[in-house]
Amino acid sequence: MKWQCRYCERWTEPKALVYDHFIPRIHGGLKLGYANKVLACYLCNFIKGSLRFKTMEESRTYIMSRRAFYHENDTGIPGIVSEVRTA
Ligand SMILES: [Zn+2]
Repeated sequence: MKWQCRYCERWTEPKALVYDHFIPRIHGGLKLGYANKVLACYLCNFIKGSLRFKTMEESRTYIMSRRAFYHENDTGIPGIVSEVRTA
């Protein structure tokens, strides 16, 4: 069985996904309960961090624009791609 990350839309094992708080906890997201929970892979969750977005689309655009700078190792834990240089 595979589940899908709501941000990058990749299908992966359930254990490689976490519940992201769409409105981050530090912005009061815990009070919103399940309506605020979004299934996300480790990398998308890591990139999003505690940033706050108005819409799902806005957060997805942000995450997708930054995914290229990271890689996922075998454990799904994100790391920075060291060879990437900004011109
Ligand atoms: Zn993802």
